Order: sequence, then structure tokens, then C-alpha cells
Amino acid sequence: MSPTDLSARHPSACDLTAAHIRAIAPYQPGKPTAELQRELGLTHIVKLASNENPLGVSPHALQAMQDQLETLALYPDGNGYGLKSAIAARFCVSREQIVLGNGSNDILEFAARAFLGAGTSAVYSRHAFAVYPLATQTVGARGIEVPARNYGCDLTAMVDAIEADTRVLFIANPNNPTGTFIPAQELLAAFRRVPAHVLIVLDEAYTEYLTAEDAYDSLGWLAEFSNLLVSRTFSKAYGLAGLRVGFGVASLEVIDLLNRVRPPFNVNTLALAAAEAALADTGFLARSVALNRAGMAQVTRGLGDLGLETIPSWGNFVAFRVGDGAAVYQALLRKGVIVRPIANYGMPEWLRVSIGLASENATFLAALATILGKGTELA
Ligand SMILES: *Cc1c(COP(=O)(O)O)cnc(C)c1O
Repeated sequence: MSPTDLSARHPSACDLTAAHIRAIAPYQPGKPTAELQRELGLTHIVKLASNENPLGVSPHALQAMQDQLETLALYPDGNGYGLKSAIAARFCVSREQIVLGNGSNDILEFAARAFLGAGTSAVYSRHAFAVYPLATQTVGARGIEVPARNYGCDLTAMVDAIEADTRVLFIANPNNPTGTFIPAQELLAAFRRVPAHVLIVLDEAYTEYLTAEDAYDSLGWLAEFSNLLVSRTFSKAYGLAGLRVGFGVASLEVIDLLNRVRPPFNVNTLALAAAEAALADTGFLARSVALNRAGMAQVTRGLGDLGLETIPSWGNFVAFRVGDGAAVYQALLRKGVIVRPIANYGMPEWLRVSIGLASENATFLAALATILGKGTELA
């Protein structure tokens, strides 16, 4: 009997994977600069596709990594004592209330692994962060997608959509890719209506960009809500996206469960050291936030001048409507500008641009103006 006959009679391991795994549409990351360079041979590329920090890495974080290079033969501290201590001190929580992640993406995955599975469901909004449906699907749970209101979360409808088998409610505030924001009072009112059998995952990847007026103390709310998990990241305002480090804060009981599904040594030595240093570098954070504020004004004004609709954004990016998103995305690529198509978020007429340095924002706006036939390109 030939191997072919065998395989005809016996399905392969791949054939036997669960239907919910086969149904997954993989996450689509922003196009890397080097990839566009290879494809088009361009020398000057502006990447505004992944909400990265245009200021780069804090010098203090760089130094902290330098100081750790010689220790790399050793495993990292699997409990992240130093970083957890720094987070605990900064945010007035205990170390035992913190779980560290390889990016905050890890925290979302841990919530799904610990709280979801076959026969359960998760509620999230339409146009919400792509990882919520992915994490839900990966563990064989059912996703309940709630229609958005003005591209933002309709929190009342989301709480109303909770079913008996619902175990997780995912909320990004501000949301990516829309940039929409739910004020603290609305969040609190909704949280008080969430039944105890549901873990609220409040994903605050962009919380550092909020003005003092909009900022709220979700970590202080943990005293009231034992079913609340707040996730934060070092990827955006702290400028460490390439290192992959984030954290979750919740009750001891929730954190204990998340730690059970967390892989050992999930955060590496350099990431631990850099994140601790980045947290201490409040000057860098302040500069990042200030740069974003100025850039957001520049970009939204520029898009408005081009007659384009934008969604008011509380993050470090803004969605704008161009009609044929795919065509404008491709045209921008040819001019060396990488933005993010968001058709996979149900928004094919829109693109999302991250706020960059003033010069990068200007390059983007000039290229877009040319493409739309509304301006002359910069020399
Ligand atoms: C960028 C982002 C994250 C953070 O991702 P990391 O894994 O921490 O890099 C989480 N949630 C949302 C909504 C985001 O936009």
C-alpha cells in the first residue's frame, strides 16, 4: 500500500482540527516598513499603521536593556518581581493583583483561556479590537457582536446582550480602530448592571492619552467590582511595542486564575527591565502624550481641509473616510506612506492613520491630498 492510499483512508491531524480553529481569520498586522521597501524599492517610508510611538524608545529603557544583556543566558524572573513592584507602587495596587503579559494581547488571551470555552460566550462591540473575536474563537466560545452606536460601543446594548452562558464582556476604552471613548460615568453605570457571572475586560491600551478631564480611575473601581480586569500596555505611549509587554490588574481571585493559564517566563528579561524603566520615565511619557495631542490637531485639521469625515479619536490614531479604502491605501503605499485598512473591521470605506512626528503627519497629508487630486505634493 502506498502512502497515498494510507492518507486517503486516514485523515491527517490537520484534517481533524476543530471547525472553530479552521474558521479563524488570522490577525492582519500593519505592513512592516522593510516589506514595503523590498516590494517597491522606496528609500523614504513613513509608517503610520500600528499606533506605535513616533518618539521611539525612552533612553532610560534603552539603558536598562543594555544593563541586562549579559544576563540573557539566564531565564527571566518568571514572577516579574521588579516590574510588578513598580506597577504596584505607581497605581496603588498590590503585586498580587497584577498579571504580566507578552503584550497586553496576552492578558486578553489569558482571560479567554481561563473564563471561556465551548458552551460559553463573550460579548463585544462591532468595530472593536480584532483580538476579542480571535481570542473567543480560539477557545471554542461563541462571540456575541453588538451593533455599534456612532462607531463606538453601545454599552447599554452590550450589557443587554449578555446571556446565561456569557462569561466575558470585552470593552476597549478608547476603542481601536475607531478611537471612540466612553466617559467614566457611563462605564460605571453599565458595570453595575453586569451580572456576577461575567468578567468585564476593560482594555485601556490608550488610557495614557486621555486628558485630565476624561481620565478616570478604573483601578480604583476594582474595590467595587471583583469581576473587573483592567489591561494596560507598554506598546503605545510607553514606546515598547517591539518588546511585547503589558499587564492586567484585577482581584486576587481573577489574577490567580489568569496565572494558571499563563505560560512560564512569558515576559522576557529585556522587556521586564525596559518596562520598569519606561514606567519611571515620566518625562518621556509626557512628551509622547504632548506630541500626540499636537499631531492629532494637525492630522484632523488636515483631513478636514481635504473634506474628509473623521471619527473623533481619544487615542494616538484617527479613522477617516475615503470611499474606496483599499484603493487609497494602495495609492498611499506607492507614495511610501503606510496606513491601516480597516475593511476587516467592517469599515471598507475608512482608513486608520496613526499620529506620527509633525513631519510624518505632513508627508501623509500631502500624499493623500495628491491622491485625492486636492493638492500639490511636497517636493
Ligand atoms: C494596541 C492594542 C493593544 C495592545 O497590544 P499589545 O499586545 O499590548 O501590544 C490592546 N488593545 C487594543 C485595543 C490595542 O489597540
